[in-house]
Amino acid sequence: MLEIEDLQAGYGGSPVLKGVSLSVGEGEFISVVGPNGAGKTTLFKAVSGTVRPSAGRIRFGGTDLAEVPVAKRPHLGIAHVPEGRQLFPSLTVMENLEMGASTAAGQRDWARNLARVLDWFPILAERRNQLAGTLSGGQQQMVAVARGLTSAPKLLMLDEPSMGLAPAMAEFIFARLVEIHRESRLTILLVEQRVAEALEFADRGYVLEAGRIVLEGTHAVLSADDRVRQAYLGM
Ligand code: ATP
Repeated sequence: MLEIEDLQAGYGGSPVLKGVSLSVGEGEFISVVGPNGAGKTTLFKAVSGTVRPSAGRIRFGGTDLAEVPVAKRPHLGIAHVPEGRQLFPSLTVMENLEMGASTAAGQRDWARNLARVLDWFPILAERRNQLAGTLSGGQQQMVAVARGLTSAPKLLMLDEPSMGLAPAMAEFIFARLVEIHRESRLTILLVEQRVAEALEFADRGYVLEAGRIVLEGTHAVLSADDRVRQAYLGM
């Protein structure tokens, strides 16, 4: 579904991604882990279109994304749940979800998608008329994930959904993601600092360091790797 080949991208003159290649198959749950500043967010921005690659190629469902303007990418089925959630704080929960459903597929399937996301995050039904900015951090993250889902995506990219959350809330969010993946077979690409969980729940993982993929594999392969164990799993 997503094929990234030798991707280079950065800001101004400073390169961040220095030749990243990775692939995400339909229905897969893939995690990308790595230290602060490795380029994980930049990778997502290159896919959703807010960072322009300087070299390399990104294909989504066979389409070269270089040919697709940023505003059109959600309509192809790419949803990016950004780091820091980026909700509309003075709009209600429901209005935030409606903003997500601006794609043709999101509009067409709005009622069904809304029912599903409220099933996964029932607290959002209770809080539907509350301003998003007045919710707890965990509830705001639920709105961010739910907003991504109401666009009826083919690929859901999640940038550090556990950031700033207490461990129990982070676990709740992870559990929902696993459930969403299991029930809908939605393709998920996750960037996370919580490496143990990110690798455990994913079908495969990539380790991104200083703009390069240094390791990839299944949970079993990565968690048996000495470097991953020492640098990321605290073993
Ligand atoms: P983190 O977990 O800290 O978000 P990351 O792996 O997501 O890390 P990126 O956010 O992609 O890393 O940042 C990679 C590098 O690019 C960092 O050195 C960062 O300072 C730099 N960078 C990020 N955004 C910009 C920007 N808008 N302008 C200039 N440099 C930037």
